Amino acid sequence: MGLKQYRVFNDEVITDDGLMALRVRLFEHNNVLMSVLDTVGALVLVIDRDGCIVCFNRSCENLSGYVYDELRGKPVWEILWREADAKEIKDFFDSLSCNSHASSQPPDEGGLKLENYWISKNGSRRLISWTYNVIIDNESGVSYLLASGIDVTAHRLAERRLEYLTHFDALTDLPNRTLFYDRLSHMLGQARRYNRMFALLFLDLDGFKYVNDTLGHDMGDLLLQKAAKQLPVCVRDSDTVAHIGGDEFVIILSELNKTSDAAIVADKILEVFTKPFQLDNHECVVGVSIGISVYPADGDDIDTLLKNSDVAMYQAKDTGRNNYKFYNSDMNIKAMRRMKLESSLRKALQRNEFTLNFQPKFELSDDKIAGMETLIRWHTPQYGFVSPVEFIPVAEETGLIIPIGEWVLRQACAVGMQWQGMASVPLIMAVNLSARQFKSHDLIKSIEAILKETGYNPELLELELTESVVMEDANSAIKVLRDIKNMGIHIAIDDFGMGYSSLSYLKRFPIDRLKIDKSFVSDITTDPDDAAIATAIIAMAHSLKLKVTAEGVETSEQLEFLRKLNCDEAQGYLFSKPLVPEKFTEFLQGRKIT
Ligand code: C2E
Ligand code: MG
Ligand code: MG
Repeated sequence: MGLKQYRVFNDEVITDDGLMALRVRLFEHNNVLMSVLDTVGALVLVIDRDGCIVCFNRSCENLSGYVYDELRGKPVWEILWREADAKEIKDFFDSLSCNSHASSQPPDEGGLKLENYWISKNGSRRLISWTYNVIIDNESGVSYLLASGIDVTAHRLAERRLEYLTHFDALTDLPNRTLFYDRLSHMLGQARRYNRMFALLFLDLDGFKYVNDTLGHDMGDLLLQKAAKQLPVCVRDSDTVAHIGGDEFVIILSELNKTSDAAIVADKILEVFTKPFQLDNHECVVGVSIGISVYPADGDDIDTLLKNSDVAMYQAKDTGRNNYKFYNSDMNIKAMRRMKLESSLRKALQRNEFTLNFQPKFELSDDKIAGMETLIRWHTPQYGFVSPVEFIPVAEETGLIIPIGEWVLRQACAVGMQWQGMASVPLIMAVNLSARQFKSHDLIKSIEAILKETGYNPELLELELTESVVMEDANSAIKVLRDIKNMGIHIAIDDFGMGYSSLSYLKRFPIDRLKIDKSFVSDITTDPDDAAIATAIIAMAHSLKLKVTAEGVETSEQLEFLRKLNCDEAQGYLFSKPLVPEKFTEFLQGRKIT
């Protein structure tokens, strides 16, 4: 029997022995090939026409959690691919099968590129970017699909996150400023085309800064997240709630039949904010101030609508916070004035535009002068006299109150020295201290320096603070108040009755005096409620061993009423208006006998 002959590669003819040798070579070749494939980082997978796995390299094993032997000969789409992805591959494979004998070339030079999910043995999903090429065994005509892939899960996730972050705020998951502008511009287009109304609500949390400053930024962030969860509950799905930075949120109310519908939503939001937010183990009540502008009445473009809702929000803040205001054109006039005042205020100290007035205070038991309150005055070349009621809040907000307040104290101490000895008793000079000054870390140092510089006796100085300033953060306030007291300075709580004082704290505060706000004094003889409040304040203050001064006493009836209540001191136009220093000297000289 002649040797069986085989025709292999390049028409080379070999015998059985030769074939054996060739098999060994092929086997070795195959092993070498597998070793090579195992060293490449890419996933390499070969499947036959039925989708059964022919080759599965080490990278595939590592990623899938299967070893080759577990999968060898099994249809890959039953194991590794999702059904939808499997269909895509099958279709591709089928389309090739139709002309599979035509060529061993891939469908195009780079092969077919597809991304699909791969389900690994432990059930986790990885996104793989595959390049498929057809390989055809010329000899047998059998075609295979060679797939090489890379795991792009992390990359794609990062891409998606990036895409998300260009439109959503990472902290609150609400639309961010960019998406908000997109939606607003779309809304505007729709409203113009179909003659519709819509409203823009500008929200700013009240007391957010306080939470941030006292409980830390993490709690501040938590508060924003919790607030952000509440807001969408108050609106329809078709509306947009966006977080545009800091503690500012905006809402587009898309379907508005009448302006008052916006008020209903604003009321809902205010209602939600009456409930405390639980920030870890702190319970926190924060309000919200809302400004509303309505298209088309309050603006015909994005910037105007946004600016006007912002202006209205400031108005809401100015009128007691935790409320809402609709925009009206007067607000712009106010906002403009405020802006101009701010810029003038920045130059006022340098231009010597401030002066001080002093208003005497009287002891009611003997009608003797007891001291005076220092009140700042501002005359501007542009606006004439500007009341402290108007500019002190601007100075507070801008931080200008710090240098202005220092100037007041220094000037008051310097001027006040000359009046000591002119009355029969030492005169206690009161100076108002604003919230921002009180919270400033340099407060104590600054007071010490001014007292040292001017030589003013601290025991003849009284600092007036409003209730809200000390109550806001009572524990740290007590520390600062103690430092002030330790210097020998007196402390008064100004405008008492206007805030929400906690009596238990009041007892712990090292204070000397309460000043009853003039709003209670003005109707004390006619309004039984005001009379009751004044009576209660005086009785409570005395039981806490505090002195009481009544502010804004204008009539002798008021004075007599207060005297009957055993009020200690009074101050007001009945005795004297605030006076410039020269007039105050004259006042003292005229009253020297007291
Ligand atoms: P305040 O500290 O409660 O001062 C009392 C205010 O009542 C003063 O208003 C005073 O002029 C006014 N007043 C006194 N007697 C009467 C009266 O019989 N009837 C009426 N209707 N008003 C009377 P002013 O000077 O306009 O100051 C307003 C507020 O501005 C002050 O209220 C105080 O909170 C603030 N302020 C004034 N000067 C300073 C300052 O130097 N620093 C700070 N931080 N605030 C100041
Ligand atoms: Mg005062
Ligand atoms: Mg006052």
